[in-house]
Amino acid sequence: MSDIIGHFISGKLETAADDRSGPIYNPSTGEEFARCAYGSRATLDRAVAAATEAGRAWALASHATRMGVIFKLRELMVASIDELAEVIGREHGKTIADAKGEIGRAIEGIEFAANEPHVTKGEFSANVGGDIDVFSMRVPVGVVGCITPFNFPIMVPTVMMAMAVGTGNGVVWKPSEKVPTAALIFARLLQEAGLPDGVFNVVQGDKEIVDGILEHPGIAAVSFVGSTRVGEYVYQKGTSHNKRVASFTGGKNHMVVMPDADLEAAASAFVSAGFGSASQRCMAVSLLVPVGEATANALRELVVDKMNALKVGPYNDPQADFGAVISSESKAAVLHAIEECIGAGAELVVDGRGLKVPGHDNGFYVGPTLFDHVTMDMTFYKEEIFGPARGIIRAASLDEAIAITNAHDYGNGAVIFTRDGKSARRFMGEVEAGMIGVNVPVPLPVGYFNFGGLRRSKFGDSHLYGPDAARFYTKYKTVSQRWPDPVQAGGAMSLAFNASA
Ligand code: NAD
Repeated sequence: MSDIIGHFISGKLETAADDRSGPIYNPSTGEEFARCAYGSRATLDRAVAAATEAGRAWALASHATRMGVIFKLRELMVASIDELAEVIGREHGKTIADAKGEIGRAIEGIEFAANEPHVTKGEFSANVGGDIDVFSMRVPVGVVGCITPFNFPIMVPTVMMAMAVGTGNGVVWKPSEKVPTAALIFARLLQEAGLPDGVFNVVQGDKEIVDGILEHPGIAAVSFVGSTRVGEYVYQKGTSHNKRVASFTGGKNHMVVMPDADLEAAASAFVSAGFGSASQRCMAVSLLVPVGEATANALRELVVDKMNALKVGPYNDPQADFGAVISSESKAAVLHAIEECIGAGAELVVDGRGLKVPGHDNGFYVGPTLFDHVTMDMTFYKEEIFGPARGIIRAASLDEAIAITNAHDYGNGAVIFTRDGKSARRFMGEVEAGMIGVNVPVPLPVGYFNFGGLRRSKFGDSHLYGPDAARFYTKYKTVSQRWPDPVQAGGAMSLAFNASA
């Protein structure tokens, strides 16, 4: 019988009699190696009850106590990098080096959460009138539900969870059912770091648990990261149940290359940011937008050379540049997008469809694929393709390149390569994307800056990292207080021995 990856509630690993389950694959081999428990509403109810009960005391813990846990968590995660990278690589398919990069960014998220006492400080006005002082303070929202995607099994959740817990909330996390194991390691680390049992809980599952979180009267706020289709639904349903919802969704990130750019650097940036992690990153570069035919022709040649040198292989092959995509369905979707793009008339320049990885015939591999002469009416331009098929869409001018970038529904990231400050300034001023890179391939900002897309790449007015994340997990209380002078208040007062006894 396969192993079952279950829940973590009130400090204990468990499965429940009414759990359903689904397969967990090793994408590198295509084998099902374990099963993920899919919890029921009853399991969710127990987790919310635990988070509510333990969260009450946790909300009252001092900042010093909470930050003690956060500091310890950082130390424990650093010590667990190899264990986590192995689990992430096996379930996701990304290379060990890539998984370690993800864990590094997770640790950065924990470090930023240690700034919580500073970023949640309130405001104070002395004597607004009649000896009344007014102050506002940020307090935990209550119980937070976190729903996370498959593509960052530890980075996205850690960034959410470290801040949600650090700000004094109870938490219920539903990981992606495709990559559920890292959640249990994270739970163990938080417990070892000294977090009281019940504050942090994991309920594994599918849509049933997502809907349960969105409807649950005991949950005050929901953090979601995933596709636009699901993220929009989560935002609408969660807010209709009067919850605070922050939903971070899909991307289709354009990389504009000006004729004056360092083309060699731009080509390397496109290949690394376009194909890293088998293109399964919300910040992956999807479309290369060279300005001018000469730029396009020269860049295409450089890109093709670099793509031909890429090695695709299992997560534990240290020579592999990237690995398999997450599932056979995902592989089929990428192959379908390629067929459709051929049918739409784009030029297939590098064809990754027939890729075989020796010894891994059933792995979910797609080789690096490149189209040229993609146009804006093609589905290939319009939809996020979460796999290693990228395109070149040629522009005649910077104006046209900006128009192409802004015409897309998504606005997660956008990048320009140029040596001209004026072009760069125009780009950052006019492009409607939340994260902008100038001669930087993946403009994922460091953890102490706000992170989040624009347009249909984000729903709700908050950010995933940075000070805004701390604000999302806290709410304001504003207090007006007067302390009457004890001598004047209440009239006469006696200092005689034992007068008030
Ligand atoms: P997904 O939307 O399929 O799943 C995300 C979560 O929602 C999972 O926990 C899943 O179990 C749940 N879910 C799936 N279908 C559901 C449904 N019908 N109803 C309710 N819940 C459902 O996303 P994914 O494939 O796991 O992740 C990839 C997507 O996430 C990409 O679109 C990527 O761009 C996006 N992403 C965005 C960011 C960002 O910061 N903007 C970061 C990482 C990933």
